[in-house]
Amino acid sequence: MKHLFDVNGHLNAETVEKFYHHALSLSERKIVADHMAVCPLCADAAAFAAAELHQTPQGFEEQILLQVLEKEKQYKQNRTLEFLFYSLRVAAAAGFAIALLCSGWFHFIPKPEHYYIPNFTQKLNQTLNDFSNRLLQTEEYKHEKTKK
Ligand SMILES: [Zn+2]
Repeated sequence: MKHLFDVNGHLNAETVEKFYHHALSLSERKIVADHMAVCPLCADAAAFAAAELHQTPQGFEEQILLQVLEKEKQYKQNRTLEFLFYSLRVAAAAGFAIALLCSGWFHFIPKPEHYYIPNFTQKLNQTLNDFSNRLLQTEEYKHEKTKK
């Protein structure tokens, strides 16, 4: 396994490159990984090599940025459209409800006077009605008197 290391006992450049290209055997990989785990110098060298290997192609960053901006624009447009459709739906529902009310479609629903009202409630209602009527008459009477 000496071929993996240089004269100073560190991983040589070839080993690092082979490590990232999966060109090492399993036992070799384990030795390399074990050494990187305890040697910051080789870990750094490996990280640097990895960064070089995975450098982004030219214009890649700009491309990503443009795509993000495009997505944002689409998202905003969609939001506006959604709001428009929502408003239209609300307006349509309101219009439909008004049309339904005006068409007399609800006439089949019995009016309050057709409901069954218990005797007590009916009597109470009548009493209250009479009372308010008498009150009104009294007020009218008083009003008439003051006029004269
Ligand atoms: Zn080392």
